Amino acid sequence: MIAEEQMNDITHKLEKGLVKELTNNPGNRFVNVLVLRELQSNAVFTTNGQDADVVTLTVNNGDESMNYSPAIMFMRKQTGSDRRFGKAMLRTLLDVECTMQVNKMCQKCLECVLYGSAASEDVKETKSVTSRVMYDTAFTIRDSSVIIEEKFQNAPGDGYAKESTTAIREPDFFNPGVMFPCVITLRDATFTELLFILSITLKNKRYGAVTTRIGRVKNHILGIYAGSEEGPSNLELTTGVIRKLAEENKQNLEDIVTLSTLDVGSVLRHTKSVFDDLVEKERLEITGLEGGDLNTILDSLTDELMKDIFKEQNEASEKFINSIT
Ligand SMILES: [Zn+2]
Repeated sequence: MIAEEQMNDITHKLEKGLVKELTNNPGNRFVNVLVLRELQSNAVFTTNGQDADVVTLTVNNGDESMNYSPAIMFMRKQTGSDRRFGKAMLRTLLDVECTMQVNKMCQKCLECVLYGSAASEDVKETKSVTSRVMYDTAFTIRDSSVIIEEKFQNAPGDGYAKESTTAIREPDFFNPGVMFPCVITLRDATFTELLFILSITLKNKRYGAVTTRIGRVKNHILGIYAGSEEGPSNLELTTGVIRKLAEENKQNLEDIVTLSTLDVGSVLRHTKSVFDDLVEKERLEITGLEGGDLNTILDSLTDELMKDIFKEQNEASEKFINSIT
């Protein structure tokens, strides 16, 4: 059991970014959760059903300027999967019945009140609730040309062949080992709502197309930062990691983004240090938890310990919604 005193101490350290009770008056209280998402199997992230989404970015360091084309993981791909997982967690732990159907969400559970919901068809006199969890599109560190495979399946045979004109093209596959540095930001959230987001992030391991049953992801939680403004963006993080890797390996930026593999340990270390450097350089009003406190929180996220805590928040969320609608 986590000593209450220790948790109180951690809550105190994060107090600039949290609210004690849910409020309907937006304030500037932010908690940033720094995460590295690492693919551990093939995954499909696509918006048109077939092609990976690719953008072009420019990265500079003192002597080199380079364009590269990372693949991206849209914000919706992350929220959709996390919301589904969060609702399932509440169902398992607390028997809370809610749904992912847009206009049929219960609007009053911990998950709906935190992630927001559209006005319901079934519940009378409800309003839409604005989400207080912000995800942004995440970028791969490497170029799409080295991390994505186009697969073709020959009809009617069952072998794979590339560049076959009669073949059926399958959706683009992201290879295992692909990494996305990213930040999840909570606004005006309670400490328990933060624990809920951390539980989801730690335990959810499937992202991407639901029907494919692939897309195994390990979410490494690298830091929790609280303050009166948002932290660095996913874009700054990813380009910063490329610069650090080039510096460490004494290679060009272009060589880094076309490597066939990346060392996870190095990327974890650099993601954290890029975030910390940017906070200092841009004089952001944000403070991070020390490693020991972060581990204390992550160790506490067991079903056994969270059940009662989430139950209490779930009741508080319903009470809050009833008081404003
Ligand atoms: Zn709900």
